[in-house]
Amino acid sequence: MKCAVYYGPRDVRLEDRPIPEPGSGQLLVRVDYVGICGTDVHSYQMAGIISPVRVLGHETVGTVVRIGSGVKEFAVGDQILCGPPTRCRENCPSCRRGETNICINGFPRTAGIGELDGGYAEYLLVNDVRHTMLIKVPAGVNAREAVLFDVVCVAFHGIRKSRFRLGDNVVISGGGSIGLSAIALLKLAGANKIIALEVAEDKHDIMRAYGADYVLNPKRFDDVGAKIRDILGTGVGADVVFECVGRADSLETCVMQCVRPGGQVMLIGAGGEPLSLATARFVPHEIDLQCSFVYTEDEVRTYLELMAVGKIDFSTLVTDVIHLEDCVERGLERLSRPGNGQIKILIAPSA
Ligand SMILES: [Zn+2]
Ligand SMILES: [Zn+2]
Repeated sequence: MKCAVYYGPRDVRLEDRPIPEPGSGQLLVRVDYVGICGTDVHSYQMAGIISPVRVLGHETVGTVVRIGSGVKEFAVGDQILCGPPTRCRENCPSCRRGETNICINGFPRTAGIGELDGGYAEYLLVNDVRHTMLIKVPAGVNAREAVLFDVVCVAFHGIRKSRFRLGDNVVISGGGSIGLSAIALLKLAGANKIIALEVAEDKHDIMRAYGADYVLNPKRFDDVGAKIRDILGTGVGADVVFECVGRADSLETCVMQCVRPGGQVMLIGAGGEPLSLATARFVPHEIDLQCSFVYTEDEVRTYLELMAVGKIDFSTLVTDVIHLEDCVERGLERLSRPGNGQIKILIAPSA
């Protein structure tokens, strides 16, 4: 089978490997779609995120083609979403509390990120059916949209974990796929004024289309905080601010300029840059800094249900679908270039 293997920054190679044979408690799926995640792009640009040598791809929808012994939950022909680990084999303290998204064993066991090969391949071996997020794609849901679970559900979890309440004013920093998802979900959830920040102005139209009432390029303002207070008309910043970029300058803008005293900044984006925030400038305002990481299986099921009944539609996040052979040039390399005009690129390895 063809697969794309990560050897290190700017070194992803197409290889031919034998199709894996599913053993006890395992499944083999033919990959229908796999999303190119920001994590893949960051790993393509810099070392230290994904360890070589690994088949990339952790957001996959595929069709079951072979079933290992002891697997009763799935049948050949089922189309399933293959996500990160769910409750771990050791039932660790996080999993015992139901916080499977912060399972202490989760990251290394995520296919395409940790020790297991992922979905940039014609076939994906699901290593451990009982401990992997595997959900049948329901009737009425298109696989091309189901595979967006890894971006939409990140925003979904961040909003559910936040103090957001009906009628709150919100700021979203970032117009990538997670920021756009957050905008649409906050609109669905009844936000009052939705202000979005994005330096790439080619994204402003789609941010408005997803529900932002105001879209600002923070770089165009000497004092973007004053502009936000002016729009809100409250004299203070937003009730809840969602940071969906993971850059230091974005987080500093969120904390220092966008949030009201006593409000919350929800950190969804994660990056490697150190921060230079003086606590004396935000502690006296009792700013609540809260982190949010990925999502739970329950949230993914809810996402699919909302999609099946037509309450959400994220189809326009997908800006291109490419062949596996093109995953470097038309995928990782292209997404590494600023101003590429892309939101979410999917690979269809079996097409
Ligand atoms: Zn991802
Ligand atoms: Zn665990």
